[in-house]
Amino acid sequence: MMDLQTALQKFTELEHKLFAYSYAMGIMSYDSETVAPELSAEGRGEALGMLSEQVYQLTAGAETGEVLEALAAHQSELTVQQAAQLREWKKEYDMNCKIPAEEYIEYAKLLNKSGSVWRKAKVENDFAAFAPYIEQIVKTQKKFAGYFAPEKNPYDAWLNQYEPGMDRKQLDLFFENLRNKIVPMVQRIQTEGTQPDISWLHQEWPLAGQQQLAKELMDLMGLNNGRCALGETEHPFTSNFSRDDVRITTHYYLEDFTFSLFSVVHEGGHALYELNTAPRLQRTCLAGGASMGIHESQSRFYENLIGRSREFCSVVWPIVCKCFPEQTANVTEETFWRTINRVEPSLIRTEADEFTYCLHVMVRYELEKQLFAGELAVKDLPKAWNAMMKDYLGVTVPDDSRGVLQDTHWAMGSFGYFPSYALGSAYGAQMIANMRKDIDVDKLVADGNLQPITDWLSERIHQFGKELLPSQLLENACGAAFDSKYYTDYLEKKYSEIYQLSIS
Ligand code: ZN
Repeated sequence: MMDLQTALQKFTELEHKLFAYSYAMGIMSYDSETVAPELSAEGRGEALGMLSEQVYQLTAGAETGEVLEALAAHQSELTVQQAAQLREWKKEYDMNCKIPAEEYIEYAKLLNKSGSVWRKAKVENDFAAFAPYIEQIVKTQKKFAGYFAPEKNPYDAWLNQYEPGMDRKQLDLFFENLRNKIVPMVQRIQTEGTQPDISWLHQEWPLAGQQQLAKELMDLMGLNNGRCALGETEHPFTSNFSRDDVRITTHYYLEDFTFSLFSVVHEGGHALYELNTAPRLQRTCLAGGASMGIHESQSRFYENLIGRSREFCSVVWPIVCKCFPEQTANVTEETFWRTINRVEPSLIRTEADEFTYCLHVMVRYELEKQLFAGELAVKDLPKAWNAMMKDYLGVTVPDDSRGVLQDTHWAMGSFGYFPSYALGSAYGAQMIANMRKDIDVDKLVADGNLQPITDWLSERIHQFGKELLPSQLLENACGAAFDSKYYTDYLEKKYSEIYQLSIS
């Protein structure tokens, strides 16, 4: 077997190669979403295919296996960082090596096909066309879970791909809390609450003003530092290539400037996480966020806990007025605040407000769990979806396009992904409660001074990248294990005040 010195040297080479391949592939994907010409897909697809093959060899090849084995034999001599690097590589290696190659190739083909079938089915409102693919994907994923995590329940195994350490037991408790607290409040808001007048929003918001607003928001968040750039895409996202090269995107709708406003703040939260990863993790597999849930906790922290707060409105509203002097002439800051916090149960998850968003996730979680447990037949999925939307949100689903077919996740095989969105919101609420013990968050936000808030988060979360597990990061930032009560308390307090409901 290789000695430790040789293994460490080879391991560093592997890390640097993977960094280079990932950088190249990431830039190509980002380019394809932003500025690449329309007919460029084919050649890029071939190039990406070759590079993916190299990455597969790198993460699952025989030499890698030897290096990892040698490092594992010297586990006690590794530094904390090296041990974490080994853990992450091992996870990838096991995933790639334990699933038989031919089965994996079949699965990749299935997903490729299911993507295009889903797109067509959604446009044509044809669930029956997509149903066999869901059936096949769930069947394959259950089988794969048996390969790479035989000791776990298959759904838990897939949950852990996105949120290490999470399981159905914790999620059941979390969603039960939401069901008991939030569902009844949705009804009360609609029957007892007064809805804000949002007619002022229905005018044209010129592009130049929206671009100026985006730039000023990035200034406010400390993102115009020469290491982060803003692009435009259909759906906003964040890409990180290194801690010195992070890209965020937005989408400008002329009929609603608030979409881009909150996209920039949300993606900006993701970007701050990446930009503040410790330099020592650069070019290692530990650069970047620890889990989907932790990443969403940072973006939603800025978008909702900060971005939709009364204090932030007092800073942002004058900027909005400066960017759109005519459109905002007769509108007050109070109206702006109420408008961006209005609760409107709706059909589409991606358009949902802060208050009802998690209920959309709850529907998906419960259905996924039932599908994996064999308690729900795929053919009965639309009926079950519609019934839950009625129960939790009080909305009637008119067709499957706006119902069970709306998201791309299942077609991509991302079962177990949805809960991380809701967990992100809930983690953030617990973090801010703990943060308030150290710094005067409201005062800082009202002063437009977000840096101490970002520093607080960086010190406890950002700098560690993937070195620490989500549970350890939560412990760092919350001072305790995850408890969803902070989130429901936050929602209850904020929205009772906005809608002037008495809390029983
Ligand atoms: Zn996000």
